[in-house]
Amino acid sequence: MNLNKLLIEVSRCPICNGSKRIEDEGMSEKKTLGYYYLKPVADNFGLSVDLLVENIKVYRCLECESFYCSPWFGIAPISQLFNVLSPTHIAGWRNFEYWLRGKNIPTDDRNEQIIKILTSKFGAPKSYAEFGCPFQGLLPIMETMRGTSPIGRIKRFSEAIRIPNDVRLTRLTFLYNTLHSSIMQFLKVLINLERLLGITKTHEGANLAAYFEKVSKTLLTTDTSLSWGGNCTRFGKSCRALASSIFGADIVPLTEYSNQTSGLIDIIGVFNTLDHTRNPMQVLDKLTTIGRSIVLVNHRATSAGRQHSFAFANNLASYLQNRYANLNVIDLSGELEPPATKDFVILIHR
Ligand SMILES: [Zn+2]
Repeated sequence: MNLNKLLIEVSRCPICNGSKRIEDEGMSEKKTLGYYYLKPVADNFGLSVDLLVENIKVYRCLECESFYCSPWFGIAPISQLFNVLSPTHIAGWRNFEYWLRGKNIPTDDRNEQIIKILTSKFGAPKSYAEFGCPFQGLLPIMETMRGTSPIGRIKRFSEAIRIPNDVRLTRLTFLYNTLHSSIMQFLKVLINLERLLGITKTHEGANLAAYFEKVSKTLLTTDTSLSWGGNCTRFGKSCRALASSIFGADIVPLTEYSNQTSGLIDIIGVFNTLDHTRNPMQVLDKLTTIGRSIVLVNHRATSAGRQHSFAFANNLASYLQNRYANLNVIDLSGELEPPATKDFVILIHR
């Protein structure tokens, strides 16, 4: 395949739409970031990954200071990456599996601190929504901090993954469901065995059951060529289905959420998902109209792979404060222990 068909010129900043820019040679030089995503794309189109990466330059927008790639993937190849070549969100599902098996998710300590900061500032939330991926933000740690028992986790999982057979099903579907059920039974036995043998030590978190008992939860979804969307499945279920059946979240497309009918959401978590949208500022504009507080966690440019078309700059908090003059923007990155250095942790609140 011709490189010119795979990569297309990006002439305007995906964040502010500005056109003035300068190549950031230091960032262009960082060629290994995102390798695991880019390799299957390069292979699929019969190109070497080195050639692909060499052709993607990184620019700094002179208007908002953000970084973005140009040329970058056209819609069809990037959709193919997220739908076919790397079809599930590996880091998200790792978090889910760790939660299910009672292991400490690498971001648990940070997320627990974020919850404590939020509850000390605003009290117990009545509603929480996660934007995009259900497994990267506060949904799993909220369940942990509610004191959900290891047996409770496995029980919910085994109910959630059940695929009931039905007389109307055709033979191959019936056969598939039966095989699927057997494999799932085996997995359940394995997880239970691990628990009984004490191989995994259950991560408990501070028990804040009283805080989270009555929180209504929502997963705000979006469909874009830059993300996995509804096809992100494991164990025979989509991440959206498990967000609903295991974490009790309502599944609502962001475009359909209305604060007039459903009310303001106390906290909205946006954990490494804003840079998987085509129009990040419009998404954030909408989120700030439906949420009282937005927790925005996103990769810093130095740790963002080339599967992301853009990355925010270190001025993100002040950029957002200028944009949302009637809201408060606080950079929490330095308030965490250890300070967040690979990601930004920013709070926008009314
Ligand atoms: Zn810009």
